[in-house]
Amino acid sequence: MTDLELSMSRTWAEINLDELAHNFRILRSILNPSAKFLAVVKANAYGHGSIHCARKLQDLGADWLAVAAIPEGIELRKNGIHIPILCLGQADPNLAPLMFEYNITQAVGDFQNAKALSDYAQSSDRTINIHIKIDTGMSRTGFYWPENHEGKDRTAREILDTCNLPGLKAEGLFTHFAAADESPEFTRLQLRRLIEAKDYLSRSGHEFGITHAAASIGVLDYPAAHLDMGRFGLVLYGYASTETGNEDSTLGLHPVMTLKSRITAVRHLPAGATISYGRTYTLKRDSVIAVLPIGYADGLHRVLSNNYGVKIRDAACPVLGRVCMDMTMIDVTDIPGGVKAGDVATVFDGELMPIAAKNAGTIIHEMVCAPSGRVPRVYINNGTMTV
Ligand SMILES: *Cc1c(COP(=O)(O)O)cnc(C)c1O
Repeated sequence: MTDLELSMSRTWAEINLDELAHNFRILRSILNPSAKFLAVVKANAYGHGSIHCARKLQDLGADWLAVAAIPEGIELRKNGIHIPILCLGQADPNLAPLMFEYNITQAVGDFQNAKALSDYAQSSDRTINIHIKIDTGMSRTGFYWPENHEGKDRTAREILDTCNLPGLKAEGLFTHFAAADESPEFTRLQLRRLIEAKDYLSRSGHEFGITHAAASIGVLDYPAAHLDMGRFGLVLYGYASTETGNEDSTLGLHPVMTLKSRITAVRHLPAGATISYGRTYTLKRDSVIAVLPIGYADGLHRVLSNNYGVKIRDAACPVLGRVCMDMTMIDVTDIPGGVKAGDVATVFDGELMPIAAKNAGTIIHEMVCAPSGRVPRVYINNGTMTV
């Protein structure tokens, strides 16, 4: 058995890098031509496999990549990624030697951590690249940009002191929108605050090479927020909206991931039989049930018990009873032509993902990240499938 066959023997995620390329080209054409393209590949590229996706994006001409944690960046550097990498997560001074060794640019949102990075850089005669994060309303990380004048003066001075720390090179300034898909008013306010901070710092003598603000929806909906760089996450993976997917979109994005599972058993059970733990479903008729080797440990959320349907040859197959850790039962009674062990069910694809997200009470961001480490990724690249 080949590695590819083994990977596709139970439950696997097909990652179509040709669709990633398709999305990249669409998004590149939307982004202001003078702005840089940053591809967000944190969290294993939203579950799609960060090494393969990062290599493809680098080949396609992405200018930057972003990760959430230094180890994610190290993994990319060890696998042939040479374009700039920005670590968006909170700076951990203990990891300063690694930022230098692997040439990872670190987001910095407070003076204390910056000082600790600087102390390391200075003591070892090195330079660490940083992007200054401004909190314009997300209240997560960054120098909080206040409303009153004295506050602005004080914060600008603190940022300036950070930029001037020895051993640090502050080449970027950025913020993150809290409600780009919900509140144009608040988003514009956040953008105004960032520009204001930039102007304050410029007047004090510090110019940043790259100012950036917009993630996926920010780029799509706010051309004024493109600035020097767009940070593309979910849209790259093929969804124009984290709730409705591509339902209301004319962009033509193509979802990159399809999660599949191979039926292990087909069972004929009588009316009245109860299905799975807790007996939450009772068969109303004599039925044909298929067992799928996928459970919540693979990324099929347990909250989808009795509340979701997978597809077999485009026919809907409702999930019956509770999703178990490693298995799920589905109703295949009405599938034309019948099903047999070995047939493949599509668990998530571009059409099902928004439904899964809605029924699970979450967003597509979380759904695409759900397939766990146990689920092999197989890649389609230039029409060829590989592991
Ligand atoms: C995750 C993240 C992004 C990407 O967000 P999408 O909505 O997926 O495009 C961009 N910027 C920051 C700071 C992030 O944390």
